[in-house]
Amino acid sequence: MAEESYYDILGVSKDASDSDINHAYRRLAAKYHPDVNHEPGAEEKFKKINEAYEVLHDKNKRAQYDQFGTTADQAGAGQGGFGGFGGQGFGGQGFGGAGGFDDIFSQFFGGGRARQQDPTAPRPGRDLQYAMTLDFMDAVFGKTTTIKYDRDEQCKTCHGTGAKPGKSASTCQRCGGRGFIVTVRQTPLGNIQSQTTCPECNGTGQVIKPEDRCTTCHGSGHVHERHELEVKVPAGVDDGQQMRLQGQGDAGENGGPAGDLYIVFRVTPSREFRRDGSTINVDRDISFAQAALGDEVQVKTVHGDVSLKIPAGTQSETNFRLRGKGVPHLNGKGNGDEFVTIHVKTPKSLNKRQKEAMMAFAAASGEEVKGVKKSVLDKLKDAFEDHN
Ligand SMILES: [Zn+2]
Ligand SMILES: [Zn+2]
Repeated sequence: MAEESYYDILGVSKDASDSDINHAYRRLAAKYHPDVNHEPGAEEKFKKINEAYEVLHDKNKRAQYDQFGTTADQAGAGQGGFGGFGGQGFGGQGFGGAGGFDDIFSQFFGGGRARQQDPTAPRPGRDLQYAMTLDFMDAVFGKTTTIKYDRDEQCKTCHGTGAKPGKSASTCQRCGGRGFIVTVRQTPLGNIQSQTTCPECNGTGQVIKPEDRCTTCHGSGHVHERHELEVKVPAGVDDGQQMRLQGQGDAGENGGPAGDLYIVFRVTPSREFRRDGSTINVDRDISFAQAALGDEVQVKTVHGDVSLKIPAGTQSETNFRLRGKGVPHLNGKGNGDEFVTIHVKTPKSLNKRQKEAMMAFAAASGEEVKGVKKSVLDKLKDAFEDHN
């Protein structure tokens, strides 16, 4: 069966002018448009009309068609797309030819018809990031908080179709539903073909008529909206850690899954506690007498004050471990420890009784302590340190 020529399809003669072709196309497209013509075969006819027009209204393609009875573009059309060379390397953005042979070659092999990613395939939404600043204690014990962030959501009016209720998309006239447009440019090196995504339908092959577009999302199928989400921050999170909330990112396309939301924690440091993972470090000053005789002192922990026994003869910079008084482990199984570093403080000034006692202490130890008067500078230094 002989194929109908493009001229036959549009019902024009081989020497038809551009305006004849435009005129014929407009008349036929209106007649066979699937929205108005529901006869069997009308849609097929409509596609053929678009295909014919695509070639004949383009000067270069028409010339090619007249010469070879086909165009590069057409080679795969109507056969469900070009399969054999579907890889990325072949074409994509143009098929350079160095003369007649390559031109013909490109026609047989479809030139730049490498299949681009199917724009109608489901695609997951983008992942989003949210920076959350936490107080030191909130990071230690966790908290439940509500965050607000902007994300793409599927339009609730049209459920993502982009069309008004009861309306739907129809085949894109610009590309005849193929989603891409092939243009041929003549250069001194031969014809260069390039394939671009159809700007009318963004490659989907479907368009929604302006009057049928959903008024909420203006046809995009999604809306950028402020979203509120209750977040349970687990006890024990640390500065720089992140938490993934599956499906809380941007909505997916064409029924693809939503992206994820990553919450990145910034933890404000504490004035009292130094944190190293699940370990807490604190400092505790004690007097010379407490260190020598031993004592029981109160120590700060994130769980509240606890008492710590200082054995007699404790040296400065000794560390004591308070088991389970650190930060809860993220897995919920118990706590880390707290380490208390003891600093034995030398008294900065002594009253008369203290001085006598110290002299007696030295004598009892068999020491001979001469004693040195403080300079004015030392006194100033003491005053300065006291205020720190
Ligand atoms: Zn909508
Ligand atoms: Zn299109």
